[in-house]
Amino acid sequence: MKAWTVAKHGGPEVLTHVDLPDPVPGPMEALVQVEAVGLNHLDLWLRNGVPGHRFHLPMVPGGDISGKILKYGPVPDGTELLKEGTQVILNPGVSCGTCEKCLSGNDFLCPKFGILGETQHGGCADLIVVPIANLIRRPENISAAEGAALSIPFVTAWSMLHRKARIQPGETVLIQAGGSGVSVAAIQMAKQAGATVITTVGSEEKAKKARALGADFTILYKTQNFRDELKKILKVLGKKGCEVALDHVGSDTFAESLKSLAWGGRLATCGATSGSNVTLDLKVIFFKNISVLGTTMGSKADFIRIVQLVAEKKLKPVIDQTLPLSQLPKAMELLETRKVFGKVVLTNTASN
Ligand SMILES: [Zn+2]
Repeated sequence: MKAWTVAKHGGPEVLTHVDLPDPVPGPMEALVQVEAVGLNHLDLWLRNGVPGHRFHLPMVPGGDISGKILKYGPVPDGTELLKEGTQVILNPGVSCGTCEKCLSGNDFLCPKFGILGETQHGGCADLIVVPIANLIRRPENISAAEGAALSIPFVTAWSMLHRKARIQPGETVLIQAGGSGVSVAAIQMAKQAGATVITTVGSEEKAKKARALGADFTILYKTQNFRDELKKILKVLGKKGCEVALDHVGSDTFAESLKSLAWGGRLATCGATSGSNVTLDLKVIFFKNISVLGTTMGSKADFIRIVQLVAEKKLKPVIDQTLPLSQLPKAMELLETRKVFGKVVLTNTASN
C-alpha cells in the first residue's frame, strides 16, 4: 500500500510517501480501506515534534478516518460483526476495553489509551488495521469526507463542554480561535445546549462563517482589542463575565480567557497551539472560585452519540477544503498557517 510516514521530526520535508506492506489484521482487528482522513494539530505535532514528548517513529499520521471494512482477523465464533464492505467511521481513541476506566466510560483515562496516528499508524494511507471495537457504522447521509471531519475535534469539544464544563442553558461561553476544528464543533454544541457564544476569529470572513454556525458575537483578535470588545459584549448581555471559556490556543490567549470568566466560571483546555507555558495568578483562581479543566479526547460512547447527532442534522461537519491524499504536505501547510475554517480533509482516490 501507499502511505505517508513521518520517520523523523521536522518541516514538510520529513513527510515521505512510501510503499509499505499491506497491514494484516490480528485477533479482534479489522482491515479498513481508507476513503478519507481529516487533519488535526496532532498531525503537526507528530511531524514537528513536541519538546519532552516521545513519539514512536516512523508513524503514519491521521486520526480522523472514514473507510470501508475489507476483512477481519481471527475472532471468536459468535462475535457480532459489521458486514465486510460496511462504510465506517473509526473511533480515534484506542484503549484496552477491560480496565476500570474503560468500563466506566472513561476510556481516554485507560493506561493503554492511544490515538490513531499518534500511538499507532493512522489513516494517511490506503489501508489501516484497527481493533473491531473502533468501528462505527457510517450512516448513509454522512459522506466519507464528512465522516473524516468529526472524530478528534468533535469528541474533544463534547468532552470540554458537556463532561468537563457542564454547560447549562443561558450560560455564556467564550470559544477561542473560532475557526479551528474543535471550535467549529464547540460553537454548534454550545448553541445546541442553549448557551450564548462569543468567539474570536482572525478575519471578517471567518467571523461570518462563525456566525453562520451559530456564534452570537465575534471578536477579530488581530484588529480589535479583545478586552474592550468583550466588555462591550458582556454589557449587552448584562453580565460581568462568561460562565465558560474554551481555550486550546494556550500561551497567547490563556490569561485573557481566564480574566473573561465570571465568579465560579470554568475554563476548559484541550491543547496549546501557541505554546503551553503560561503564567497564572492563583488569586484569580481561588478568589473567583474558578475551575481549570484539562481534557484530552473523549469516550467512544460520546462519539457514537455525536455521529448520531450528525446523521440527524443536529450537528454538522465543517470542511474548508478537500484535497487528494497525495497532497498531505500542502494540507498540513494550510492548517499550520491557519488558512482554514474548520477541517482540511484528504480523500484517497485509491479507494474508488
Ligand atoms: Zn482500559
